Amino acid sequence: MTMKPVPVANPDTAPFWEACNEERFLIQECNACGKTQFYPRALCKHCNSHDLKWREASGRGKVKTFTVVNHAPSPAFKEDLPYVLALIDLEEGVRAMMNVIGCAPEDVRFGMEIELVYEQRGDQKIPQAKAVGK
Ligand SMILES: [Zn+2]
Repeated sequence: MTMKPVPVANPDTAPFWEACNEERFLIQECNACGKTQFYPRALCKHCNSHDLKWREASGRGKVKTFTVVNHAPSPAFKEDLPYVLALIDLEEGVRAMMNVIGCAPEDVRFGMEIELVYEQRGDQKIPQAKAVGK
């Protein structure tokens, strides 16, 4: 079995990936304008300030939109077919791309509630969206 790719951390994303290994999902909050952002980066996307802090997300969110993947992008994903790739709106107002797991692809709905769970991949845990109450 081919292993799925593991993210490579850089100085801007290392704290995020380290927190994932503790099953905590970090977003950035700007000390200058108070807005939040995801994915992690060196500057605030709203006001370009460098003055960012990390904040732990609740882990709750909703499916904004999704697609069902029927053709694997690489052999490593073939076993999972068909699977759901979704944009998830977290409670904190940021959007992240993840797989929706824990229910059949045909049961995924817009606005469906999810909670973050973590998939072990090599020595890195990867956040995924698990359907709530399925
Ligand atoms: Zn800002």
